[in-house]
Amino acid sequence: MHHFSYSGHDLHCESVDLAAIAKLYGTPTYVYSAATMADNFHRLQRNLGGLDLQICYAMKANSNLAVLRHFANLGAGFDLVSGGELRRVLAAGANVRTSVFAGVGKTEGEIKLALENDIYAFHVESEPELARINHVAGQLGVKAPIAIRINPDVDANTHAKITTGKSGNKFGIPLKHAAAAYEAAAKLKNLRIRGVQMHIGSQITEVGPFVEAVKKVAPFVAELKAAYAIEYFSIGGGLGIVYQDALASGSAAWWDAQPADRRPLTPEAYGAELTPLLAPLGLKVLLEHGRFMVGNAGVLLARVEHLKRGAGKNFLIVDAAMNDLVRPAMYESFHEIVPVHRDSSRRALVADIVGPICESGDCFAKDRKIQEVGEGELVAFLSAGAYGYVMASRYNTRGMPAEVLVNGSAFELVNARETFEQMTAGEKIPAFLQ
Ligand SMILES: *Cc1c(COP(=O)(O)O)cnc(C)c1O
Repeated sequence: MHHFSYSGHDLHCESVDLAAIAKLYGTPTYVYSAATMADNFHRLQRNLGGLDLQICYAMKANSNLAVLRHFANLGAGFDLVSGGELRRVLAAGANVRTSVFAGVGKTEGEIKLALENDIYAFHVESEPELARINHVAGQLGVKAPIAIRINPDVDANTHAKITTGKSGNKFGIPLKHAAAAYEAAAKLKNLRIRGVQMHIGSQITEVGPFVEAVKKVAPFVAELKAAYAIEYFSIGGGLGIVYQDALASGSAAWWDAQPADRRPLTPEAYGAELTPLLAPLGLKVLLEHGRFMVGNAGVLLARVEHLKRGAGKNFLIVDAAMNDLVRPAMYESFHEIVPVHRDSSRRALVADIVGPICESGDCFAKDRKIQEVGEGELVAFLSAGAYGYVMASRYNTRGMPAEVLVNGSAFELVNARETFEQMTAGEKIPAFLQ
C-alpha cells in the first residue's frame, strides 16, 4: 500500500500534485512519500511485534539524508555497507549505536571509523576479515562487536544478480563451516561475539525461502546462544514489492482481490510465519529491509521530449535516462509508467519508452501501452524509491537528478539537481597539455 494515486485527473503524492513539483523543480526528479515509508516501517514492526525487534533499514536502497532522518525518527537503526554510508548516518543526525556494518571488503579505515562511532556490530563474511577487525580493534584498544554471516544455501527464486543465499555466491560462510569460524573468532582477543546474521537475497515475493532459511539456521543459532551468549539474530532483508501493478497496489482493495496463492508477500504473512520460528530462540531479532521500506514510496518524474512515430514502432522519448534509473537496463526490471495527467478522451498508444542516451540499453519499456502523451507532458515511473537515485550516475554528463520529500500537503527539495560546475569540480587540465 502507498500514497500515490489520482485525485481527479492528476497523480498525487499524498496531497501534493506531482505536476506542481515538476513545475518548481524540473525533471527528472525523484519524489518520495514520507507517509508511505512510515506505514511500511510500522507494518513491519507491528507484524513481528511479539519479538524483541530492531529494524536496521538497509540504507543502500535509498540513502538521502532526509530519508535517513525520517527512519531514525521512527526508531530505525541502519544496515550500512561503507564508510560513506556511516558518515551519512552521522550527517543525518542519527545513531550509529543501533546500526550494523555489512559487506565483504571493509577497509581498515572503515573499520576504525565504525569502532570510533560505537557500531552495534560488524557483519563478518570471512576469516581474513575477522583477523583484520581484530587487528584494528587492538590498535584502538577496544573490543569489536561482531556477528558472522551464515550462507544458508537456500534458493530465493529471485533475479541472479540479487540472490545472495546460495552456496555458489560470494556472500557469507557456509553453515557447515560456521562453527569453525565462530571458534576462530572466539580466539581473537579484541573481538566480542554479539550475534549471527544471514541474508538470502532481494525482491523475494513468497515467504517459503525465508521460512526455509530460518528453519535451517535456527538450531545452529541456539547452539551459538549456549556457547557464546549471543544477543541477536539478524535475518537480513529481501522482502519484495509490487512492480507490475504498482499503481493499483496502493489500495487495500487490490490486495484483497488477489487470490491467496498469487498475493505477493505482505509483512503480515511474513510476520505470521516467522514470529513463531524466531520467538523460541529468545534473542533480539534484527531486520535489514531496504527495498520494502522505500521502494513503493518513490516515483521518478520525467517529461516527454518527443513522441516519435516510426514504421510499425513508436518511441516515447523522455528526459529521464538509464543514468537516472538504471534498473531496467541492469536487471531487465519492470517499472509501471503512467501519465501524471490522466485524460480518458485520449487514445492509448503502444510505444518503446526510452531515454535520450546513445545506447540501445537506454530503454525503460518495450511495446508498453500508455495513454497518448505529447511533448512537454509528464510521466511517472512508479516503485522507483529503492535502488533508484542511489544507483544513478553522470553518464553522458547528465547531472544527478533532484529529490523531493512529501509529507501530507508539505514538500521540500531534499537534494538539488546537480549542476555542471559540481559535476566537473574535481577535474582539471594538466600542465603538460596547456
Ligand atoms: C542489500 C542487503 C539488504 C537489503 O536488501 P533489500 O532487498 O533491499 O531488503 C539487507 N542486508 C544485506 C546484508 C544486504 O546486502
